[in-house]
Amino acid sequence: MLIVKTVYEMKMTRSKIQTNKRVGFVPTMGYLHEGHLSLLKKAREENDVVILSIFVNPIQFGPNEDLDRYPRDFERDEKLAQEAGTDIIFYPTSEEMYPEGYSSYVITEGLDRHLCGAKRPGHFKGVMTVVLKLFNITKPHSTYFGQKDIQQARIIEQMIKDFNLDINFHICPIVREEDGLAMSSRNTYLSPEERKQAIALFKGIKRGEELYKNGERDAEKIKKEVEKVVKSFNLAKIDYVDIVDYSTMSPLKKLGGKSVLALAVYFGKTRLIDNTILE
Ligand code: AMP
Repeated sequence: MLIVKTVYEMKMTRSKIQTNKRVGFVPTMGYLHEGHLSLLKKAREENDVVILSIFVNPIQFGPNEDLDRYPRDFERDEKLAQEAGTDIIFYPTSEEMYPEGYSSYVITEGLDRHLCGAKRPGHFKGVMTVVLKLFNITKPHSTYFGQKDIQQARIIEQMIKDFNLDINFHICPIVREEDGLAMSSRNTYLSPEERKQAIALFKGIKRGEELYKNGERDAEKIKKEVEKVVKSFNLAKIDYVDIVDYSTMSPLKKLGGKSVLALAVYFGKTRLIDNTILE
């Protein structure tokens, strides 16, 4: 496994990969868990060369967010990545990605208006910018994103389409802990009591799915019930509970086609997200 830290070196390495080889790319912020590994596994199955990027992207964090305390452990990541069959880790510094004079950004008009986009201004601008840069540096044939960050996945899928990028986009299922909590690097912030109560999101989702299965199509009614479940956990503070159309990421009143029940919930300072597709 090769570890590459500069853009120049990554581009050189990429240019030496034979043109008949398929390249799969998994962008992450590191502190790898089973969720990340599931993306790497899928990339491994479908490609000749697997590139993983590990980069805690400063421009996607708001001023009061957790950039400084975001968990980092490159040695651990390196081991896990190798076990998952990664060929190349691209591990740049912030200075490498955003050198002095950096001034270009990518935005979406529409897909970031609700959910996390509304709650974290500038977040998706940071995500789109770094992902486009990473695509240009690694030139993958296929890329793998998690449903865990569903709005991000939709925005990147749309960016690939809108910018005519020749990249196959794959969205992979949410990997969960045994009790249902969606795996996340941020779960490490939780105190033991918060960790216990963090299943609130999964319980809420299950309630929503149950109502949907029983024929409920009124978004407001489903949301109210989900909120009730989440609020029954005394440490949970709801940031949002929303039901949006899958393709537009805009709120729905009545559920019809493919829609998403999405939640963001605070436990202390830790903000967790989860979602389920209803169709
Ligand atoms: P992150 O390192 O949190 O930026 O995540 C990198 C990629 O891993 C993103 O595409 C995430 O959606 C995906 N991911 C994170 N957590 C999970 C999970 N629990 N299950 C599946 N994919 C995940």
